[in-house]
Amino acid sequence: MFHCDYHIHTKLSPCAARDFDIEKIIQIQQEQGMKEIGITDHDYGYGYKAKNIEAVRKVIKKCEPSISVHVGVESHILEYRVASINIQLASYFDYVLMAPNHYHLRGVSLPSDPGNPRKVANHEIYMFEAAVACPLTDVVVHPFVVMPNVFRMSKEEVAAFGQEMMRAIDQKRLIRQLDLAAQRGIGIEISPKFIRYNQMHLVEFYHLCLEREVKLLIGSDAHNAEELGELSKLEPVLKELGVQEEHLWRPKEWRW
Ligand SMILES: [Zn+2]
Ligand SMILES: [Zn+2]
Repeated sequence: MFHCDYHIHTKLSPCAARDFDIEKIIQIQQEQGMKEIGITDHDYGYGYKAKNIEAVRKVIKKCEPSISVHVGVESHILEYRVASINIQLASYFDYVLMAPNHYHLRGVSLPSDPGNPRKVANHEIYMFEAAVACPLTDVVVHPFVVMPNVFRMSKEEVAAFGQEMMRAIDQKRLIRQLDLAAQRGIGIEISPKFIRYNQMHLVEFYHLCLEREVKLLIGSDAHNAEELGELSKLEPVLKELGVQEEHLWRPKEWRW
């Protein structure tokens, strides 16, 4: 529908499939009729080294893609005012995706009781505020998505838990953050992950984003070829939300 996917991991991310390389991604995306994509590995996948980012740009150039291929990065909030990436490294990327809830990674501030939806709601909004406040953030990715592997719950359990958690979110605080995001041009990601984990509480959240004029970033958050194809599952949701071109967050032109 919009022919873009701005959140794709490669084998540089330890959590991605070992054969999922840039060449393969570009080839698949070209075949699927994509127009613009973004490679966004985890910052630790680059070993926090600029030369590894340059190497990725070289590989892309060598592929001679017929589509636009950006190089972004996925970083995460550790706690308020502390992110996993610094400004020096961030400057090498076209954009920074900021994850507020990478609870499975070392050093990330955790909810005091991960089994209590109210406590998780409090923590999620705190981390969301931290992501919006971080000067390096271009887009906040998967906010309020409860991952089954992270919370050690079944798919059914996270669906119900997510709803209860979302109801416990302080609406005033949330709206204030969305207004700040809109002012600063910070986008919010919508990915098929929320459909995969049946997190239907997020539909209302995306409605609220649009209402507060926050732009949405479309990304598959794919870690393998199969997940790239899952992006099409978003189409009915985007339609239902009434998402038009002007509602989309898109990367600015190449910085160099
Ligand atoms: Zn993530
Ligand atoms: Zn990701």
